[in-house]
Amino acid sequence: MEFTAEDLWSRVLEEAQAHLKEQTYRTWLKDTVVVGLTDSDLLVEAPSQFHVEWLEDKYGVLLADVIRKILGRPLNLRIECGGAASPVPVPNIELATGTSSSPTPKFPSEILPPSFLNKRYTFDRFVVGDNSRLAVAACQAVAQDPARMYNPLFLYGGVGLGKTHLMHATGNAISKEAPSSRTVYLSAEQFTNDLVGAIQKGTTAQFRQLYRQADLLLVDDVQFLEGKERTQEEFFYTFNALYDARKQIVLTSDRPPKEIPGLEERLVSRFEWGLVADIKQPDYETRMAILIKKAADDNLTLEHNVIDLIARFCTSSVRELEGAVIKLLAYSSLTNQEITTDLAKIALRGTFGNQHGPSEGDITPKLICEAVAKSWHITEDALGSKRRTKDLNIPRQVAMYLIKDILDCTLVQIGKMFGDRDHSTVIHSIRKIEEKIERDPSLRRKIESVRENLGQVD
Ligand code: ADP
Ligand code: MG
Repeated sequence: MEFTAEDLWSRVLEEAQAHLKEQTYRTWLKDTVVVGLTDSDLLVEAPSQFHVEWLEDKYGVLLADVIRKILGRPLNLRIECGGAASPVPVPNIELATGTSSSPTPKFPSEILPPSFLNKRYTFDRFVVGDNSRLAVAACQAVAQDPARMYNPLFLYGGVGLGKTHLMHATGNAISKEAPSSRTVYLSAEQFTNDLVGAIQKGTTAQFRQLYRQADLLLVDDVQFLEGKERTQEEFFYTFNALYDARKQIVLTSDRPPKEIPGLEERLVSRFEWGLVADIKQPDYETRMAILIKKAADDNLTLEHNVIDLIARFCTSSVRELEGAVIKLLAYSSLTNQEITTDLAKIALRGTFGNQHGPSEGDITPKLICEAVAKSWHITEDALGSKRRTKDLNIPRQVAMYLIKDILDCTLVQIGKMFGDRDHSTVIHSIRKIEEKIERDPSLRRKIESVRENLGQVD
């Protein structure tokens, strides 16, 4: 059965609509337009870059599943911002019929060509910080000279820290250098699903051949292999075949090989043959740099204090940082308000990692005082007392400053918390800290670390 691009996309939308809230559908999908369809790609335009990211981020998996369901095979969905995408030819394509098992296996690069790699995930767009320096250097070395230095390259780190981005960047760089090299990118989950499908259809021989022709094999999230013996066995043979043929393998996982429970020893040891590099959470400076770069790349104007607010509170991952920016933009455009720190506090309430954010539900004045007292090695009572010694003044002022900034309590309320001080004393204290933060980086860092620890104070 043949599909035109329009038919296919309208079926995808219909199906997606059934899975989504009406409001969600209207905001994010209704105004998309299909502009092209090839054997491997479906190209769709969305009204803004910000729609593109939101769709990729939140609904990419859903849409990919729907497409796969309708066509019976995966297709690379490329969403681009309206105007930016140049239309590609729109040939009709064959719909896989459940029964036809074609005798010649398709090489995955036909199904998943290099273009399947997300073009936005390049080294250029990746901000290098102390948290990722080794991983980035290793990926660049692999990209320059595949299968030489680090094979396999194993990247690990928590969710949303840039593993997939770096893996795609490596693939993109290699495809650019050697366009004819065959890159296969897939998640370990997809590998498992494809294997299960092949076993059911009795096509495991083709399945094997498929992956073993790759020049570059990128497998994302290998922790998914946990406890899946048959998949691990198959993966083991694929790995060996490629490794022996001197093909580059890059793997990612949320933890190092040894810590993946239920991963066979022989795979653990192979995964450690090359280089194992971790990516940690970015520090404040790196978070600022990422936000500034992101804003510049997307032509967004965000004031320094808004960026600073997001960087201070979104501490857990880069994905969280990006999500905060998108949410803020959505909020500002839906309510037609300028982006200010006040708007950011409202828009992002509750999204800042559960415990870190400026949501009153999580943080109380008492928690802030506890955190400050702990950090300055004084007692909470001393903080609240009337004593005016130098070693108490600064932490007391910091506590007032944080309570005002995070919880937005009134000056009078804050005065009451600190031994019934006058509101002018409170404002004076807060100003003092604001000035000091500008001039004194060590104090600024100390205050940042108090913020980060908030909610984790025991
Ligand atoms: P992971 O695979 O580790 O869960 P991703 O690679 O999907 O994380 O990254 C999440 C998002 O954050 C992506 O949109 C990615 O482009 C972005 N990102 C992560 N790290 C960085 C970085 N250092 N610089 C720029 N963008 C980054
Ligand atoms: Mg990932």
